[in-house]
Amino acid sequence: MGGAHEHGDKDFTGDGFPDEVEPYSVKPDAWDAKYSGSCHCGAVTFEVKDDPVASVCCHCTTCQIVHGATSQRAVLFKKDCVRFPKEAIEHLAFYQTHDKKVGRHLPCKVRCKSCGTLIADEGRNMWLAFPALFKFGEGAKEPESFQVKNHIFYSQRMLDLDRKPGVKFWSEAQDKSEEM
Ligand SMILES: [Zn+2]
Ligand SMILES: [Zn+2]
Repeated sequence: MGGAHEHGDKDFTGDGFPDEVEPYSVKPDAWDAKYSGSCHCGAVTFEVKDDPVASVCCHCTTCQIVHGATSQRAVLFKKDCVRFPKEAIEHLAFYQTHDKKVGRHLPCKVRCKSCGTLIADEGRNMWLAFPALFKFGEGAKEPESFQVKNHIFYSQRMLDLDRKPGVKFWSEAQDKSEEM
């Protein structure tokens, strides 16, 4: 654990990190949950307070490789709108794709140590959760707030998608690249 201090980055906490860091603050009664979800094996569960503030689908090659999928959907929440029970936190593992480092160097990928399911991309302020993990009840459809509004890094796509009104396709980052 000595590396945490030598590294000089207070966000780097290696295998353990303080409970007070959002969204790992473990305050079970601070708010009522609107939606909840879990990993494939069920060791990691989580709750969110509100609807997502945005919903995107990333087609970049890194997401293709890390997720083993043609693209990766994400719904964005502020980190203080997300929480885990204490026992779930012990099952989380972290990986940073940018520098290919294991550990909680933000932004990073968060996954379940047991089943390997990717849980979210953790940014400095935002939490990008993966919609497939949410449970909306038997037969319930995803809420409108979860519907994809922007496809990003579409120039790197593996799969061509049908166009829908109001949905934008960006060659790279949203609002910072050409629309396709
Ligand atoms: Zn799991
Ligand atoms: Zn991506």
